[in-house]
Amino acid sequence: MSADCVFCRIVTGTVPATIVHETGSVLAFRDLNPQAPTHVLVIPKEHHPDVGSMARTAPTLAGEVLTAADEVATIDGVRDSGYRLVFNTGRDANQTVFHVHCHMLGARTMTWPPG
Ligand code: 5GP
Ligand code: ZN
Repeated sequence: MSADCVFCRIVTGTVPATIVHETGSVLAFRDLNPQAPTHVLVIPKEHHPDVGSMARTAPTLAGEVLTAADEVATIDGVRDSGYRLVFNTGRDANQTVFHVHCHMLGARTMTWPPG
């Protein structure tokens, strides 16, 4: 828990969010500024700054984040139509919140390559 981290504050309930799915270790909530009809952020409740840090120090948790993202796809009805998972990491990827989060995007056709 990091007091100045907005996603840690969503985990503790100090900052409100629209929760879609929750397990003992993972929380999924709707992005404030959605880039697709389904845009959910899937985060570990434990603070890790980025996906590399989580994957190296807590690989089981990293798997739980992915499983939860797939569960959110089922909840939002996009598992069959498809979805995209994105972990923005560092400056070139425009990471703005340094609590690892998986963007789960769906319910529209995605372009490739991303901008
Ligand atoms: P990043 O650019 O770091 O990959 O993405 C951060 C994401 O978090 C952005 O899509 C932004 O809209 C979202 N976000 C930032 N602050 C909040 C917040 O307080 N609540 C919610 N639900 N989403 C947030
Ligand atoms: Zn945090």
